[in-house]
Amino acid sequence: MTEHDPNRLLDASGALRETQPPWPPRDALRVTGVRAIVTAPEGLPLVLVRVDTSDDGLYGLGCGTFTQRYEAVVAAIEAHVAPLVIGRHPADIEDITRLVHYSSYWRNGPVLNNALSGLDQALWDIAGKRAGVPVYELLGGRSRAAVEVYSHAAAATVEETLDAAEELMAQGFRSIRLQVGQPGLGAYGAPGTPGGYPRSPHPDGWDVEHYIRGTPALFAAARDRLGDEVNLLHDVHSRLTPKQAVILARALESYQLSFLEDVIAPEYYDRLPEVRAASPVPIAVGEQIGSVPDAVRLIRDGGVDLLRLHTSSVGGLTPTRKLVALAELLGVRTAFHSPGDISPIGVAANLAVDISTPAFGFQESHTYNDATHEIFPGTPVPADGHLLPSDRPGWGIELDEKAAAAYPPTRFLFERWAAGVRRPDGGLEAP
Ligand code: MG
Repeated sequence: MTEHDPNRLLDASGALRETQPPWPPRDALRVTGVRAIVTAPEGLPLVLVRVDTSDDGLYGLGCGTFTQRYEAVVAAIEAHVAPLVIGRHPADIEDITRLVHYSSYWRNGPVLNNALSGLDQALWDIAGKRAGVPVYELLGGRSRAAVEVYSHAAAATVEETLDAAEELMAQGFRSIRLQVGQPGLGAYGAPGTPGGYPRSPHPDGWDVEHYIRGTPALFAAARDRLGDEVNLLHDVHSRLTPKQAVILARALESYQLSFLEDVIAPEYYDRLPEVRAASPVPIAVGEQIGSVPDAVRLIRDGGVDLLRLHTSSVGGLTPTRKLVALAELLGVRTAFHSPGDISPIGVAANLAVDISTPAFGFQESHTYNDATHEIFPGTPVPADGHLLPSDRPGWGIELDEKAAAAYPPTRFLFERWAAGVRRPDGGLEAP
């Protein structure tokens, strides 16, 4: 046996010796399996983590979805995370997730933190099931009756966008994100007009000046038609420079948006404090943050009014609840990211935090298709613009693996939209 013989790490049961903590487990319960499941019922590959235990029928589910790099997350879970966790008592969530985090030595960022998120959420699911309570009761219980959510209205024209907004208001939504198309590529989330810049090298491009000049007209029309009671939101999707962000925010001031989302790309986040200081509109940011230190910096340095964490990429519920506590103490509110590229298990993790934290501000929502509901029985459905977490133990959501297998992922599809934003002159922009 050499110093580097991997067998020296195994104890008599085959568990990795170095991963066992120096305290005796309270009982004989152990993690017996950690694996990834990928399913794409809406075309987007959702990555789930299932943690099985020695207690027959006791298992946990977590969301580690990273649609553009899902195979890398699967490899991280199965090749690197599983061997560290099998044999551990699933109760030690803090220790297990810190161990997985430190074990790679080079750590943080998407992929590794997606894998960690999936593991972490699965362990919290197990904790809730063992206690016989929904996870939010492990976080201190409810601090509100329900989670009010917002939805998206987007179309090629202002009229059609406002038609969609009125439909959502009729369904009970009081907060609506508005996006409208423009020539060429369109705006984020809204269609364009192909060939919109016919004399340019890239006629299907996206023009920043057109976007900045045109967007206030959408909100002027929205206030005229929808009135002053609806909460209006807008997602820039990181395509502006810091100065352009301030120009747009000032142009939108009189329409009293509840927040302006992702005004600049993550590469420029050091300049968010100056943008926020100059913006008359609350700044929402955070869905592209893939590490705890980056989120801490954002809150600490005054770069954010509404923290848009993506709990399936920052490391799961364990770091999210700490970041939300920090936000609460510093007067920052939450507006968690939750479109179709998060699984219903990830939604459940969002809702557990939303319903329990005093820092709650907004929550994005997505209407899943029938196939997703078939795969994930128990997926909550918005009613009158609100979502409720399940009151069953753990997340209260199941995963039907047979149904999931009917929707295998398609490779190399979801990288493309994020690599397709070019100006009319052909230059690439952040997506
Ligand atoms: Mg967004």
